[in-house]
Amino acid sequence: MNEKNHSSLKRIALLTSGGDAPGMNAAIRAVVLAAHHYQIEVIGFKHGYNGLLNKEFFTLNFHHVHGLINQGGTLLKSARCKAFYHDDGVKQAAQTLVNESIDALIVIGGDGSFNGLIALQKYWSGQVIGIPGTIDNDVDGTDHTIGFATAVNTAIEAIDKIRDTADAFERVFIVELMGRHSGQITFNVGIACAAEQVLSFENFSVAQLSAEQRNARLIEIATDIKQAQQKYQSSYIITIAENLWPGGANQLAIDLKKHTEIDCTACILGYIQRGGSPVAKDRILATKMGVAAVQTLIAGNTNLMIGEQNNSITTLLLTEAIKHQKRVSDSLINAQKDILAMAAQTQC
Ligand code: ATP
Repeated sequence: MNEKNHSSLKRIALLTSGGDAPGMNAAIRAVVLAAHHYQIEVIGFKHGYNGLLNKEFFTLNFHHVHGLINQGGTLLKSARCKAFYHDDGVKQAAQTLVNESIDALIVIGGDGSFNGLIALQKYWSGQVIGIPGTIDNDVDGTDHTIGFATAVNTAIEAIDKIRDTADAFERVFIVELMGRHSGQITFNVGIACAAEQVLSFENFSVAQLSAEQRNARLIEIATDIKQAQQKYQSSYIITIAENLWPGGANQLAIDLKKHTEIDCTACILGYIQRGGSPVAKDRILATKMGVAAVQTLIAGNTNLMIGEQNNSITTLLLTEAIKHQKRVSDSLINAQKDILAMAAQTQC
């Protein structure tokens, strides 16, 4: 049941770029199935933008995407590509697209990858579409990015286990979560795991503090830990965003010990947050976005990011999508503050 493709679109290229995210494969599947439906060939380029420079590509067929929806990682591999920050690299990539008669390029990645698409348009006149795929959920113009829901679930499962052992010894754990410079994962996981403190860019600033001010921060953290432990005689978990405290969770544990005599165990969850089979939410989001990307191209549009807001597929200019990092919503920040305040008022 192949539907007619009334556009001039014959051959589209597809690549995954930046940090890999669970659900990228589901998006690849959706792009391939939708494109074939409209009789369009899909050329997969490997290793992010490097694939354009190194001419690493192959035709994506049905058999490549069969059984792919539940797999983490990305069939096309992902990578950062330094050469793309320079005009020469971008020009070379544009030449590959011309040589291979590519009509359009779909990139699944984060805001950095969308900057790459914007740069490419200086030297290539084909259509370009971005699909937001990053565990960080820091891309503006979409409620969620592909991979975020799975990363949050993975971190929750891990911290639930940490809670068991922390309870047994009444220990304090500092758990560091991914997100680059965004607290989306840290806040969501912190609330869902009933963390006693959430330390993230949105509620806790360390940058540019004097040594004295930093020590005051340590005392604030330690005071809360001591009060909670006296009251509940229980475990205490802090979720902290990566890149927040200089030296990360390990250094925060050292600093707390040195300045406040509090013993903490640091735990960096790291790359497990990027792996694993995507949860239903990411599979469904990726499927909707992949199909929408192809249909948006067929409609003749370009320079757009596919998003989803209030359960509806949307589009936004790539140049708008990269303007601001998406903020953690005030309602989430307040929800965390309120529940902790309520817990503090509760009598044992
Ligand atoms: P994530 O945040 O999940 O890691 P991302 O797409 O934001 O995803 P980046 O490392 O920022 O990850 O960008 C991925 C790639 O996009 C870079 O390695 C580079 O090839 C390209 N890129 C990023 N920024 C630019 C830019 N300003 N100009 C041209 N290309 C860029």
